[in-house]
Amino acid sequence: MRRLWRLLTPDLVVPSIYAIRWDDLRGRGVRGLILDLDNTLARRDQPLPDENLRRWLDQARAQGFVACILSNNLEARVQLFARACGVPAVHAATKPRRRAFLRALETLGVEPAHAAVIGDQIFTDVLGGNRLGMVTVLVTPLPGKEFIGTRLVRRVERWVLRHLAQRGVLRS
Ligand SMILES: [Mg+2]
Repeated sequence: MRRLWRLLTPDLVVPSIYAIRWDDLRGRGVRGLILDLDNTLARRDQPLPDENLRRWLDQARAQGFVACILSNNLEARVQLFARACGVPAVHAATKPRRRAFLRALETLGVEPAHAAVIGDQIFTDVLGGNRLGMVTVLVTPLPGKEFIGTRLVRRVERWVLRHLAQRGVLRS
């Protein structure tokens, strides 16, 4: 049980990708960024990256990080967005399964200990990243329409976050 809770606990919790401090990631040994797409980098209905995101990705590159998008969404959505960002992407990833994370790591050319997973979902992004010993960063999901299934998962996620906060595991 304790191990399960640990797997569900992100290393960092931030309101958005723009609140992540590059030196914080570097201090944790991170060189590669595995980025969730929907509700993390952009709203689900936003087909292309906006200016803020392009600037953020430029900054990441300038800071020496390599980045890759890892999304459970379908090829057309993911590859169009990733090409516009100028980063590689793995689509139809079936997170939290290990295989796609390993493919993303291979694309980045970094070991798990030097990668951070940045995403908005505990049961896909955080769980998958923690299983492989990566740094995990949970962002508040961007607003917008979600699948009914996702809305249900959100309720469980909020419960998990409350529990972690009560146990004092999360630094806010
Ligand atoms: Mg997401």
